[in-house]
Amino acid sequence: TDGLEVVAVTGLTKRYGRRTVVDGVDLHLAAGSITGLIGPNGAGKTTIMSMLLGLVRPTAGRGTVLGHDLTRPADYLSRVGALIEGPAFFGNLSGRANLQYFARLGGHDLAGIPEVLDLVGLQGREGDSYSSYSLGMKQRLGIGVALLGDPDLVILDEPTNGVDPAGMRDIRAMVRRIAADGRTVLISSHLLAELEHVCDRVIVLDQGGLRYSGPLHELPSSRAEVILLRGLS
Ligand code: ATP
Repeated sequence: TDGLEVVAVTGLTKRYGRRTVVDGVDLHLAAGSITGLIGPNGAGKTTIMSMLLGLVRPTAGRGTVLGHDLTRPADYLSRVGALIEGPAFFGNLSGRANLQYFARLGGHDLAGIPEVLDLVGLQGREGDSYSSYSLGMKQRLGIGVALLGDPDLVILDEPTNGVDPAGMRDIRAMVRRIAADGRTVLISSHLLAELEHVCDRVIVLDQGGLRYSGPLHELPSSRAEVILLRGLS
């Protein structure tokens, strides 16, 4: 996928009745890049991710994901890993045993599990029970499930939500490791500050509409909506 746009979608739109929750959003994700999808609660982040995953049917919009038509998610989903709602883990099983369970469920090779544990920074803790993990570790295990099939595109919906600052640093380091292997990452947050040091580009959304899209260093700090995002928690 070198040099290719892993996601190239224009005019992505979702309406529920007369209500437009995603309004003509363009998404262009270069191979190996990390893109932040930033916006307050209800901005449409989850809906955009769900449309890329074929979980929600777009009202309008066209384009490709991993070279396949957006309208045919079955053609590309085997190369996509996602954390949208955390999988339900078994509290009394170890992190490793939980990954084994989800690998079997997804038909993935169990031999990939050590690499996944390494990527999500849980090596050394994989034998501990899930219930003993911090929230950040639980989130990283969830991301581990998304990585089991060795996906080319990784979609993470608010993995830093509720995680303390140290846990957030761990998640950011993990996202960098994921992308360093050439994977493309789309990650959402309602706070720009949580992701600004990890993303190559950001897409700022508000009420379903795109407010800014581009590299972070070009993001004008005077823009009202950006100030809002920096200040909101
Ligand atoms: P959050 O951080 O709260 O998850 P978000 O940016 O991910 O916010 P979405 O979950 O995509 O936002 O929701 C965008 C808007 O679409 C919200 O106002 C939500 O109420 C609305 N919405 C989502 N799903 C449906 C649905 N099935 N029917 C009607 N409205 C919906």
